[in-house]
Amino acid sequence: MFNAAYSWVKPTPVTKPALIAFSQSMVELLDISTTELAHYEFAEIFTGNKILKGMQPFAMCYGGHQFGHWAGQLGDGRAINLGEVLTNIHGRKMLQLKGAGRTPYSRTADGLAVLRSSIREFLCSEAMFHLGVPTTRALSLCLTGEQVNRDMFYDGHPKLELGAVVCRVSSSFLRFGSFQLPAARKDLSLLKQLVDYSISTDFPSLLSDNAGVFNGKLYLSWFAEISNRTCSLIVHWLRVGFVHGVMNTDNMSIIGETIDYGPYGWIDNFDIHWTPNTTDAQGKRYCFGAQAEIGQWNLFQLANAIFPLINDAESLNLILNQYADNYQQQWLAMMTEKLGFAQYQGKDDQQLFTDLEGLLSVIETDMTVFYRQLAKLETKKELLQEQDWLPILVPCIYDFAELTSSLKEQWSQWFSRYIKRCQCDNNDAEVRIALMNRTNPNFVLRNYLAQQAIEAAEQGDYSEIVKLQKILLCPYDEQGKYEKYAQKRPEWARNKAGCSALSCSS
Ligand code: AMP
Ligand code: MG
Repeated sequence: MFNAAYSWVKPTPVTKPALIAFSQSMVELLDISTTELAHYEFAEIFTGNKILKGMQPFAMCYGGHQFGHWAGQLGDGRAINLGEVLTNIHGRKMLQLKGAGRTPYSRTADGLAVLRSSIREFLCSEAMFHLGVPTTRALSLCLTGEQVNRDMFYDGHPKLELGAVVCRVSSSFLRFGSFQLPAARKDLSLLKQLVDYSISTDFPSLLSDNAGVFNGKLYLSWFAEISNRTCSLIVHWLRVGFVHGVMNTDNMSIIGETIDYGPYGWIDNFDIHWTPNTTDAQGKRYCFGAQAEIGQWNLFQLANAIFPLINDAESLNLILNQYADNYQQQWLAMMTEKLGFAQYQGKDDQQLFTDLEGLLSVIETDMTVFYRQLAKLETKKELLQEQDWLPILVPCIYDFAELTSSLKEQWSQWFSRYIKRCQCDNNDAEVRIALMNRTNPNFVLRNYLAQQAIEAAEQGDYSEIVKLQKILLCPYDEQGKYEKYAQKRPEWARNKAGCSALSCSS
């Protein structure tokens, strides 16, 4: 679609809409009453069957770099925006149906989404929000009553799956690729219109700081803000052990939210090279440890796109270089908090962090469990004995036979350095533990947990979705009877499809 950033399009009607899950806080934010929620009409609206007065559905046009290569026009192939709601507390919120039928950007695909991937998007975006990670939200998850044909592993075995629609909510669904496309087409007037729109709607304080004038200086401060938000988003991902899986520029939110939950995954055993995305298994372009660098690569593409509006390569470069410094600083600050220290104290701390990551990687050691366990270490002792630190480590290790005596010795030394560091901090143990336990989640949406909820839902049992939603409302708490959801991944899930590897098929 040329000279346009979006197209009007109606969702495709479905046969049997049914609401199966919703987010209570989103329902409240959007001021939807319990009666409205319980009414059949709710599912009609949020699968796209019924368009309310004031809704004017449209799909957005954007391009993107996919796996490092310019892919040209992509666009909302199966996402249809219903329009914006002006909320009392959080301003404008756009409602968007994902999986509501073909759009002018569907290319050869069907515009639909299956239950499996919709559950993953619904649960994970809400979980991320409660973990304190910027993200698009999800209001509802509805079945459509349609069957959708999917070849989940692209191996010539297509299957009919249940169709579903998630209603996503965000103040902006603009992506880096939204700006790249008009730039690639040399449509500078559309590019400028879109940048000005983004600034005035989602970054109004930048505009007022610039006396309401749209000029190169404003565009630079907008880019710097996007760069900062992208950086802090990725540091959050590293903090909680999240791997997005497909950081193409069309999946990068301009307001710095996590967007487009596809073959994402959560780190069980700490491994910076891990990626859940089978399409990326060879290249590992988007693996856990590469995310910060990819964020910068993507920002570089955005910088190229907006360059014609700024014509100042030096200043753009400066911002890109600052991203690297920012990242280094924020990563150190994040690790300082993960370990429960009051302040970062220089190179020795950095060494302690990197040595820890090295040790966590030697044999399979669960990241989430480890940081929660570490908070339990007695740090007041002069000398640590094996019986002091081994019980901390045991629940994190996947195969105990791999814990050799030389590795034990290395752990023993690391724990000793750690308690010394805690002691020189003069930090009260309670303060340290509280800091750690609000930085290091107890519960994350482990891949196998999402998969269990999916398998039950495919049999018509939605209780596991509701249970996970409830647990993930308070991910930093201990939750007595749900503690098994906080433990390391069970062995049966190690190589199971959906638990360890995911395809882009959704
Ligand atoms: P993704 O890798 O999920 O970000 O998707 C890349 C592009 O493909 C986006 O433009 C999507 O809208 C589009 N797309 C993905 N799945 C479908 C589908 N089932 N129908 C239409 N378009 C799709
Ligand atoms: Mg996408």
